[in-house]
Amino acid sequence: MTEQTSEHRAPDELPGGSTDLGLRGQEIARNLARVRQRIAVAGGADLLPITKFHVAEDLRVLARLGVTAVGENREQEARDKHAQLAETGLQFHMVGQVQTKKANSVARWAAAVHTVDSLKLLNALDRGAGLALERGDRDSALPVLLQFSADGDPQRGGAVEADIDQLADAAAEAANLELRGLMTVPPLGADPAAVFARGRQLVERISDRVLGAPVYSAGMSGDLEIAIAEGSTLVRVGTDIMGARPVL
Ligand SMILES: *Cc1c(COP(=O)(O)O)cnc(C)c1O
Repeated sequence: MTEQTSEHRAPDELPGGSTDLGLRGQEIARNLARVRQRIAVAGGADLLPITKFHVAEDLRVLARLGVTAVGENREQEARDKHAQLAETGLQFHMVGQVQTKKANSVARWAAAVHTVDSLKLLNALDRGAGLALERGDRDSALPVLLQFSADGDPQRGGAVEADIDQLADAAAEAANLELRGLMTVPPLGADPAAVFARGRQLVERISDRVLGAPVYSAGMSGDLEIAIAEGSTLVRVGTDIMGARPVL
């Protein structure tokens, strides 16, 4: 990639020097600054950039721009990137559905899992985190969020409202998991504000079993303002930072 000259200099608040980010890096830096601005205007929330389908080099750029954690939704891709980017210190959150048979692997690389939606998965992750602790692959319990589904569509994952309490009990009791909060993705065609508000009520309902200040993971590129207005504390933004993903 060509060296960038002064007229391409990125904003001076960027840590780690910015003149050698390259064109792609500068695009990511601009997008990231815009998204951070949108979040601030909306009232503030933590930002988890979602990097699925994007190459490891793009994640390296994010790390240089001060990002400390990213989200991925496919186990193998995330595991590979985690191994490839160990020296950056980037943390990887799992935001996609986890197959029970992949729970042991996820528990080795994930800094958090946002998609716990069944007792079966919860128990598998608890076991996996126990093994990872034993083997020294992790040094603390695995933080988890319960995924709330407003419509119960199994394709998209998530637990229906009636199951959230029982899952919260189980997560709070699991030896190797830490319940941190709740995540939701509004169903297509649903009113996102109504879904985000319902999720926020569920966050309050489980907060007695959550470790620390509850995390409410809600809002993506298209609806982060609505989510923050309804009480999101963590937005997951892919497209508006990384650009379009390849269509599969
Ligand atoms: C891909 C993805 C996102 C990011 O979506 P964008 O619309 O690209 O911002 C957020 N959350 C989950 C669970 C995802 O899979």
